[in-house]
Amino acid sequence: MANLRNIPSIDDLLARPEIQSKLSVYRREFIVDVLRQAVNELREELRKSKQTYDKEQISNLILHRADKILSTAVSGSLKRVINATGVVLHTNLGRAPLSDQAFQYMQAAAQKYNNLEFDLDEGVRGSRYDHVEDLLTRLTGAEGALVVNNNAAAVLLGLSTIAQGREVIVSRGQLIEIGGAFRIPEVMKASGARLVEVGTTNRTYLKDYEAAINEETALLFSAHTSNYKIMGFSEEVGLTDLAEMGQARNIPVMHDLGSGILVDLVDWGLQDEPTVQASIKTGADIVTFSGDKLLGGPQAGIILGRKKYIEQMKKNQLTRALRVDKLTIAALEGTLLEYLCGNPRQNVPVIKMLTMHPEQLREKAEQLKEKLAPKLTGNAQRCKLAVVALEDMVGGGAYPTYRLPGFGVSLAFSGKSLDKAARELRLLEPALLTRKQEDSMLISVRTLLPGDEEEVIRQLAQVLR
Ligand SMILES: *Cc1c(COP(=O)(O)O)cnc(C)c1O
Repeated sequence: MANLRNIPSIDDLLARPEIQSKLSVYRREFIVDVLRQAVNELREELRKSKQTYDKEQISNLILHRADKILSTAVSGSLKRVINATGVVLHTNLGRAPLSDQAFQYMQAAAQKYNNLEFDLDEGVRGSRYDHVEDLLTRLTGAEGALVVNNNAAAVLLGLSTIAQGREVIVSRGQLIEIGGAFRIPEVMKASGARLVEVGTTNRTYLKDYEAAINEETALLFSAHTSNYKIMGFSEEVGLTDLAEMGQARNIPVMHDLGSGILVDLVDWGLQDEPTVQASIKTGADIVTFSGDKLLGGPQAGIILGRKKYIEQMKKNQLTRALRVDKLTIAALEGTLLEYLCGNPRQNVPVIKMLTMHPEQLREKAEQLKEKLAPKLTGNAQRCKLAVVALEDMVGGGAYPTYRLPGFGVSLAFSGKSLDKAARELRLLEPALLTRKQEDSMLISVRTLLPGDEEEVIRQLAQVLR
């Protein structure tokens, strides 16, 4: 009990020089809270402890604990993660990492005023939507463009503007759910449009659409089934046929592309995903896709299409609620400029990671293994290191069946220590997220960003020593 009597008061702690120096940086109320928490935690432990400490020792124990509580509190909850999973567009890890140029544009917009909604030439109010519309139409061949919060918002806005209170025809094979939260039927309901399902899960023909058209039909909707693929006995109506029919019957066609890519990646084996330009060219009246999937930009929903529909959407009250902020516009402009006048294969991280040659990846894995080996000699787990071929994934719902041939370093563990080590690595800062395959931990090198390799070596050495 002597221990409990030796706990200093909060005022005594506040008077300590270690705490005084913190008071010049942090709010006093915050520091008092931190000290209270540290005292409470330590009191619980001292109750159970058999050892006795003097006043000075107890103060030091509290200060040490307060330091930990403080650093956890100020580091925030959103933390850096090193992605060693080999999944390029990992929705749980924030999807696309931005290019340098996107980041620079975003940084420039962040702390200064800008002409977000101001026409500098005329000195009058302008529109935030003007900034990227020209870039998007030049890059894709679309007549008009509009950017909203995300692709779910883009689909919602398109449906609400064109089909509220009327019917939208969709193939049963395309009634998709994405990421557990975006379901076409639910979005349809929220938009006020009436869903008319045609065909079956595995087969839908043009005649099914034809038979469902009536005077209530406002839109033909086609969703790119990006996160799954029906193999074998299946049939969907191609966009070309759908667009042709839409034109003949004077009904617009909306294509939810999902991932939306601007560069053709056929040479890298990625042929399942239609480019945005191809979708526009095929005759879709409205095309929607995400900014942070294959485009490699910030979270955004990009809507392209015929001028008259884009103008209608801009006037929809929903647009105000779904609008993007200056940071998104700046990052998107930086990204799109890279496509228009730069080198996306070199400078847009997502495209760079997807187009890495397996031989390049093997070299990267060899280097990592070489540097790692001396750091792990004599480690307690005695894990065996090897360079292995592995299958990476595009992620983000794109190319669901395609595996990218990749390389990585495998650490073979014996027994259960693998899960424990994986957890310890996740709790470091930055966190390291690895892959598991049977008794091995895999570090895929494709998704390691510049500077990550040194951290990975340091982290593995720390946890496995
Ligand atoms: C990812 C995806 C969405 C949702 O996009 P968000 O930008 O995450 O809102 C909608 N439709 C398809 C086909 C998708 O792949």
